[in-house]
Amino acid sequence: MLLAAILCAGCGTTSTTPAAAPRPPVIADPGVLARRLAAVQPDWPARRVVDCRRRKCVALTFDDGPGEYTGRLLDMLRDRHVRATFFVLGEMVAADHAGYTRRMVEDGHELGNHTWSHPPLTAMSDERLRSELADTEAIVQRTTGVRMRLMRPPYGATDSRVAEQARLEGLAQILWSLDTLDWRDRDPGIVARRAGAAVPGSIVLMHDIHPTSVAAVPRVLDTLARKGYRFVTVSELYGRAPLPGRTYTGAENPKER
Ligand SMILES: [Zn+2]
Repeated sequence: MLLAAILCAGCGTTSTTPAAAPRPPVIADPGVLARRLAAVQPDWPARRVVDCRRRKCVALTFDDGPGEYTGRLLDMLRDRHVRATFFVLGEMVAADHAGYTRRMVEDGHELGNHTWSHPPLTAMSDERLRSELADTEAIVQRTTGVRMRLMRPPYGATDSRVAEQARLEGLAQILWSLDTLDWRDRDPGIVARRAGAAVPGSIVLMHDIHPTSVAAVPRVLDTLARKGYRFVTVSELYGRAPLPGRTYTGAENPKER
């Protein structure tokens, strides 16, 4: 209830709310919202102390799942003690009978909201935009018990309206700085070579729904580990929970994070 009151400030009334009930005040300051979220959910995502301003860090991100290859990927990441960030689709979480979504949380990965059905958010009504995010939040929370703090707009398509809705849902927008184009080039060697070109602070975009992308991961981990990289979640990359509504790309100067 407390979360609902915090997160739905300004979202409008629901059918269970009497029309005359006073609405909670809209929280305008994303820093205040982030602190309130942290207060009701202090232990997730669990952040390790990694100073990515001084160390070489890279955030691997996997979109559009969970899917049938996600289990293999989770096994690889667990074997090598690597944490990543998964931007999940609500409809895939709903179909995830293998329990991969819950395992992501149990294994220490970070989850982000990638909408329910992967539409371009800039081309839809406010109501549909809200439900694409809110319905995905709801099923992930029901499935895993955690409330996500990140979102990634499908195709990277965003504008001020999307940013505002993300802010109201308590979500930071996370784009990427290195696109492996793994959806187009279904070749583990090509995908691994592109991901291996990460620089300190990179957010690397991959998709765990493609077997070729999952097959590339051992080489990606080998290459980057050899170069001295530490694999971190998006929140760890920034050293704190990213602020709701703000957009992060991974291309920021690591020293200015
Ligand atoms: Zn996607």
